[in-house]
Amino acid sequence: MAEKNPFDNYCKQLDNVKKYVPHEDHKYIEILKYPKRVVEVSLPLKMDNGDIRTFIGYRVQHSDIRGPTKGGIRFHPQVTLDEVKALAAWMTMKTAVMNLPFGGAKGGIAVIPEELSEGELERLSRRYAAAIAPIIGPERDIPAPDVYTNPKIMAWMTDTYSMMKGGTIYGVFTGKPMEFGGSHGRLEATARGLFLCIAYACEKLGISLNHIRLAIQGYGNAGVHSHRLLQEAGSKVIAVSDSKGAIIDKKGLDWQSVFDYKMRSKKRSVVGFPGAETITNEQLLELDVDILVPAALENVITSENAKRIKALIISEAANGPCTPEADVILYKNKKVVIPDILANAGGVTVSYFEWVQNRNGDHWSEDFVNDKLMSWMKAAFNNVWETKENHNIDMRTAAGIVAVTRLVKSYKVRGIWP
Ligand code: NAD
Repeated sequence: MAEKNPFDNYCKQLDNVKKYVPHEDHKYIEILKYPKRVVEVSLPLKMDNGDIRTFIGYRVQHSDIRGPTKGGIRFHPQVTLDEVKALAAWMTMKTAVMNLPFGGAKGGIAVIPEELSEGELERLSRRYAAAIAPIIGPERDIPAPDVYTNPKIMAWMTDTYSMMKGGTIYGVFTGKPMEFGGSHGRLEATARGLFLCIAYACEKLGISLNHIRLAIQGYGNAGVHSHRLLQEAGSKVIAVSDSKGAIIDKKGLDWQSVFDYKMRSKKRSVVGFPGAETITNEQLLELDVDILVPAALENVITSENAKRIKALIISEAANGPCTPEADVILYKNKKVVIPDILANAGGVTVSYFEWVQNRNGDHWSEDFVNDKLMSWMKAAFNNVWETKENHNIDMRTAAGIVAVTRLVKSYKVRGIWP
């Protein structure tokens, strides 16, 4: 198996978990190696200049054994079916770690969104929503934002789905704008969950948050909001990066200034931020910091560079940033990896809150949402930490045990029909 195939990596992680699950339950784990439904759609798009280009999109529903499937939609040139299958499977594990009444799904379109005009992006988003409409819905599959998708795109998709059904249906997408069925706290929820996990891990390890130095790879939704929350807690983020490169300032980077610079700059990048030195994305990963936050894409820490990672804690905002081969090296080097299926689960947790509000016609305050998120994250973190301590294993395998144990119980009570 290739080290960088995300779906193979998910299967390897599942095999690691198997060792800690009773033998008679292994047959249920085998089911989790196959997605329940895989849909590929062709998306002809009328370009502004009159041309027609056809894009390929996917929606993978991995498991609905614990409830309707749930997971984001990615717009990125490297989207492949195996990537979407892995991301969908990790959503099944994530919703189970958090004990949310959902299964896992993911979607994506292979596209370079920066090359599209606003109008083209809207037409592509609507076409995709229409193409997957037969298999989604508030009780079937509920998509949300992921890399290069955002609340505006969720609004276009919700509007398209609603028009097809003949009435406003908020509960079909989450991560919507506040003006159109969104929830307070959703935009920063992934980062808030990540921040809480870092805070709990520091507490367990006897590290004070206001003494730590961090590097963040990826400066989008997850990266920027993590920077802000960590800075507000007194931590120092000394390096950040995006797809164009990385910057470092050992005195610490101010999130608002870096963010404003990125939004103003021609290339929409952090590179060139005044007073900071430019480094490569590879160098950022290997910096001498206390905590490393990969917040971009998969497979950035592999068997090649894992031995050079100096951070004590690696907190995965991104999905799948460490390969299983890298995990072995990191564990041997006594690094603490807070796994994606726990560390970035704040996003799907507040998506769940949004779905509950939509279905109840309710509207919760920001404080209420954040308090609720804190209690869900704390329960999940402690559960995973205890499992890790009990078995003397890494946190990824521990989180896998928590998830798989719940999934197996659901298979047993629901049964395999017919
Ligand atoms: P985003 O589109 O808002 O930002 C992605 C960032 O990554 C951008 O700054 C981009 O420039 C950067 N990037 C892309 N390629 C890179 C590279 N090779 N090196 C360095 N940076 C690179 O996306 P996001 O929503 O912040 O998602 C980031 C990660 O977090 C993804 O793995 C995603 O699956 C995961 N995640 C997101 C959410 C969410 O709610 N948005 C929830 C859970 C997990």
